Amino acid sequence: MRYSGFRVIKEALTGHKGWKPVWREPEPKPHYDIVVIGGGGHGLATAHYLSKVYGQRNVAVVEKGWIGGGNVGRNTTIVRSNYMLDGNEPFYEFSMKLWEGLEQDLNYNAMMSQRGIINLFHTDGQRDAYIRRGNAMILNGADAELLDADQVRNEHPYLNFDDARFPIKGGLVQRRAGTARHDAVAWGFARSADMYGVDIIQNCEVTGLRIESGKCLGVETTKGFIGANKVGCAVAGSSGRVMSMAGMRLPIESHVLQAFVSEGLKPVLPSVITYGAGHFYVSQSDKGGLVFGGDIDGYNTYAQRGNLPVVEDVCEGGMALMPMIGRARLLRMWGGVMDMSMDGSPIIDRTPVEGLYFNGGWCYGGFKATPASGHCFAHLLARDEPHPVATAYRLDRFRTGRTIDEKGVGNQPNLH
Ligand SMILES: Cc1cc2nc3c(=O)[nH]c(=O)nc-3n(C[C@H](O)[C@H](O)[C@H](O)COP(=O)(O)OP(=O)(O)OC[C@H]3O[C@@H](n4cnc5c(N)ncnc54)[C@H](O)[C@@H]3O)c2cc1C
Repeated sequence: MRYSGFRVIKEALTGHKGWKPVWREPEPKPHYDIVVIGGGGHGLATAHYLSKVYGQRNVAVVEKGWIGGGNVGRNTTIVRSNYMLDGNEPFYEFSMKLWEGLEQDLNYNAMMSQRGIINLFHTDGQRDAYIRRGNAMILNGADAELLDADQVRNEHPYLNFDDARFPIKGGLVQRRAGTARHDAVAWGFARSADMYGVDIIQNCEVTGLRIESGKCLGVETTKGFIGANKVGCAVAGSSGRVMSMAGMRLPIESHVLQAFVSEGLKPVLPSVITYGAGHFYVSQSDKGGLVFGGDIDGYNTYAQRGNLPVVEDVCEGGMALMPMIGRARLLRMWGGVMDMSMDGSPIIDRTPVEGLYFNGGWCYGGFKATPASGHCFAHLLARDEPHPVATAYRLDRFRTGRTIDEKGVGNQPNLH
């Protein structure tokens, strides 16, 4: 069923009896050409591009819970391509371009809103670093604009300009960046993949990988064995656990990241804002809630809940940047498990096991990567070679010293 304005009017006039379930609930077949483990944003996007772009129709996505129950439905929805390093920026700009056409591609309203992002800077050194990043973005075909303090004040008069501990000196803006409704992205990819014949199998946990003579033959699940010519793993925060089933120890640690939403307010924030003197980012949802977050909690865990010290730290950041946030009541908060890689950059690669492929290490920035990650993982699974914008995301880069340390903090996952 295609969605359109006419369809909405027709259904409104005929009692809404014609809407169909958005995807089927199939039982697993004994064998598929490709099985993708993980029905998060990346797994579902992989299935969509595998079927739509690479013509693979005999595909299943195996999800242990329900679609959208993982990080894809838990993030702060920020979409941007303001990276600096060669390994990263072409990939994230590719993703940004896919976001720009995503709703038409999926025939689904993902509430993509290019409201822009501003990264504030508070020192001369930080300004120089942002200029460098902005130039790298422009060289890679992205948009970037540097604002001085007066220009920032003009656009964001509610920020603390008068008695700030770290005065705002300006900001790096990407106008094409913004937000998208996170769970609608999962539903849109799921719907599209299903329309191409992909089986989305929910409540089906992968409990083992059947490997014989160095080749992956399929997955053991709570619904029985499912055979596959190729298996792609895209389980984000569970990467370490699933890949350990193949005897692999990944250069990844799992950490919890929290997100917060205030009560609904009248429109106040026109764009996404990041604080440069602490870790705090905020936007306003279409329902009016201020959606914000900060650092990961910093310890290894698989728990989808966080601790109070980070709540305090995030709120301090918010108060320093825009003191009026202290008048808003916090409505809800939650946590998600982040697959933090050693250098803060992702991995999309084959593994030493034949027929087993890995996608992970997204840290807390994988939502914006969803379309490109799916596209590039589909390319790898279908053609057995990396997509041109993802050649740097190799699994062996930690051994060969080709790390992609965007933040420049070294090989320490909890600092990225
Ligand atoms: C609080 C928070 C805020 C964030 N903010 C942003 C942001 O603003 N911008 C941004 O770009 N990124 C952000 N992120 C990061 C982003 O959400 C993740 O990097 C991204 O969603 C991970 O990919 P995914 O969607 O495929 O993950 P998930 O949705 O977690 O998908 C993985 C799936 O694998 C399934 N799975 C796990 N184990 C198994 C198994 N054994 N068998 C079958 N299925 C299994 C899980 O149930 C899950 O559904 C944030 C994350 C959090 C938690």
